[in-house]
Amino acid sequence: MDLRVPVHDNLTRRRLSFRLAMGARVIREGTTLVDLMRFCSAMGYTLHGAPGNPSQIEAAGALARASGEEAVAFLDLLHWSILIKLWALLPVNEQEFFRSTYALSLEERDSRWPEAVDSHCHLDRWSRRVNFNLDINIWNSMTCMSPLVDIEINLRAVVTNFCDPSTYPDNSLLETLYGVRCFSTIGLHPKGASKYTDADIQKFCMLLERPEEVCFGEVELDHSVPYAEWLGQAILLKRVLSFLKERHVLVLHCRGADGDIHGKEVHMCLLSKVPEPRDFFGYVWDNRM
Ligand SMILES: [Zn+2]
Repeated sequence: MDLRVPVHDNLTRRRLSFRLAMGARVIREGTTLVDLMRFCSAMGYTLHGAPGNPSQIEAAGALARASGEEAVAFLDLLHWSILIKLWALLPVNEQEFFRSTYALSLEERDSRWPEAVDSHCHLDRWSRRVNFNLDINIWNSMTCMSPLVDIEINLRAVVTNFCDPSTYPDNSLLETLYGVRCFSTIGLHPKGASKYTDADIQKFCMLLERPEEVCFGEVELDHSVPYAEWLGQAILLKRVLSFLKERHVLVLHCRGADGDIHGKEVHMCLLSKVPEPRDFFGYVWDNRM
């Protein structure tokens, strides 16, 4: 992954003001880059035999043009290991000042944070758990929540599974989620097989017709419930699979009975029931976990 951020005026100004503000706090107001570098040397904050890499040299050159100082005299101030030592000198409230004043720009996030796709989650169940409203304001609500700093990522897309009729999304929520690259699947979780009504199945079919609807599931078998419920799950599965269309990606839930640690029996059932070779995303619970 290329961690370099393009050098341009905006970024150079931010880098310069960050270092000058850092100098003002750890030494005194009016500290220059060279002063800050001298302080680092006096404190023993030096790099050992590691000359700046091309992107640091380029960034230092831009800083030198902006500050009027000699790049070679403060090149090490571009290195994270020096900055982190200066950072450690700041009291917690000062660190908070820097965090909020110099939060990464979108461009920097794009270039530095790893990319990820969440291929399977349940936003409806999660929102209930954390007492969060899953509605068309979800995007605004979520941007107010602070992420855990050590797992900051660029989340490119999410697949969220609605498999409980009681929390199926309405059309406006489906559109909202789709607009933020959160793709919904519609399913009927096998554990609820004995409870679903014809109205639930009708609702399931209607949502499958929505243009935002790209996946079918999760459906399948969960043999962790009493044996008496297995037949009901198989009947439900046969019924719902009859609504499966070519355009759907199939999301399968497959969980073996207690003691069947690899879910062999439920796998065999699954293989005999999926209608034809097709794209599907399956997940299986390992009963040991
Ligand atoms: Zn799931």
